[in-house]
Amino acid sequence: EQKAVLVTGCSSGIGLRLAVLLAQDAKKRYHVTATMRDLRKKDKLEQAAGDALNKTLSIQRLDVCSDESVAECLNNMKDRRVDVLVNNAGVGQIGPIESLSMQDMQKVFETNFFGAVRMIKAVLPDMKKRKSGHIVTMSSVMGLQGIVFNDVYAASKFAMEGFCESLAVQLLKFNVNVSLIEPGPVNTEFEMKLMEEVGKSQFPGADAETVRYFKEVYLPASHEIFTTLGQSPDTVAKATMQVIGMRLPRLRYQTNALYTPLVALKYADESGSLSVRTFYNLLFNFGPLFHLSMNLIKCITCNCFRRGAVSPS
Ligand code: NAD
Repeated sequence: EQKAVLVTGCSSGIGLRLAVLLAQDAKKRYHVTATMRDLRKKDKLEQAAGDALNKTLSIQRLDVCSDESVAECLNNMKDRRVDVLVNNAGVGQIGPIESLSMQDMQKVFETNFFGAVRMIKAVLPDMKKRKSGHIVTMSSVMGLQGIVFNDVYAASKFAMEGFCESLAVQLLKFNVNVSLIEPGPVNTEFEMKLMEEVGKSQFPGADAETVRYFKEVYLPASHEIFTTLGQSPDTVAKATMQVIGMRLPRLRYQTNALYTPLVALKYADESGSLSVRTFYNLLFNFGPLFHLSMNLIKCITCNCFRRGAVSPS
């Protein structure tokens, strides 16, 4: 029997690719409800879906920040049935916290954390009743390891990790699985959107030295990381599809083998000093050598750290 999959945030990036891949599954294992906040942006998804459109893929409006929108979307689904929920919708935020308003910070949590919680709350009673289901959430390596100038975004992903880790225990009793996908940098509109916003900002409230570290040290380093270690949305979507197809999915999946050693620093030293100092050195002391460091990491990890990460077959 076909599984009903609901994916949030499908107008672009990973969500779009995942919805299409699932809908085009050769064995037709899935019926995908691909959702987006603004239906005026559905052209790209419709084009990518091709023949699957209105067969194994239907498009619905859904804003994860609105109770009404979530209820309306679920009511439009056959028997309100969701076998697999994919919480993919998310927003990024970078910059010195002094220049971000509390309201802007709260918006990140409203989408990345409470948006996913709202979705889970909405599908949970039925999943429990049926004693089956899979809740998949697009977290990030930043849900495991904080990154400079991504303070609030990382916190929102940490929050999701804590929430899912807690819930996973209870839900195991109901045969409902919980999985977190933890990509490293992914080359989607995500980075571009952030750069656009940053380009417009004057960083009110932040001192000149901090703004200089952000613009002249962090931004080039971040760009470098995206270029050397970045994955395509398609790669992350394939890894996620693999997890959705598993009979006994785990709680956590990192998708980027090149990034696993950076996360592993944290587990190698529970005091936190090793990771804080390594990231500090990478950023502030290896400045001109950053490119080299990244390539070295890439080189070492290519050979040694393949285990642990899901690699799409
Ligand atoms: P993206 O910006 O292309 O996709 C995010 C999608 O979420 C967009 O389509 C956006 O419209 C949608 N969205 C935002 N607010 C929404 C709301 N209130 N309701 C419904 N949809 C909403 O970027 P992406 O890289 O494909 O991001 C997908 C997920 O992957 C996010 O959760 C992001 O945090 C995570 N992620 C991204 C990266 C990266 O480097 N791009 C890395 C790790 C994790």
